[in-house]
Amino acid sequence: MSKETLFTKIINREISADIVYEDEHTLAFKDINPQAPYHVLIIPKKPIATINDIVKEDRELIGQLYCVAAELAKTNGFADTGYRVVMNCNEDGGQTVYHIHLHMLAGQEMGWPPYTNKMKA
Ligand code: AMP
Repeated sequence: MSKETLFTKIINREISADIVYEDEHTLAFKDINPQAPYHVLIIPKKPIATINDIVKEDRELIGQLYCVAAELAKTNGFADTGYRVVMNCNEDGGQTVYHIHLHMLAGQEMGWPPYTNKMKA
């Protein structure tokens, strides 16, 4: 079961955010602690806690998150140069907010692999 997180408060405009896209089922806003020149979070309005909580009925909704990323890439000029989208899951995945969100990072060349010194032995 999903608990309300601060992202629900952003959806409900109880907390302010720099919103860059909204439709009936999704919202995208600038990350408060950007890890790239352009870093937005694309979220479903439905509060799904983690990737593990996605059910078959959510397939279209999850696909829509990627459609929003592609649209933002086009409108912001990143479609051809490239960008990264990533969704973290649970502690080892680096998830801190338990309302699924697609990170979209752009505006610089991305490194790979995406982890640094936090790798476990
Ligand atoms: P994750 O660690 O994958 O769960 O990502 C959570 C992201 O939410 C982090 O990149 C945070 O910087 C971002 N974040 C936390 N609070 C806010 C907020 N109030 N507005 C925008 N982004 C936020």
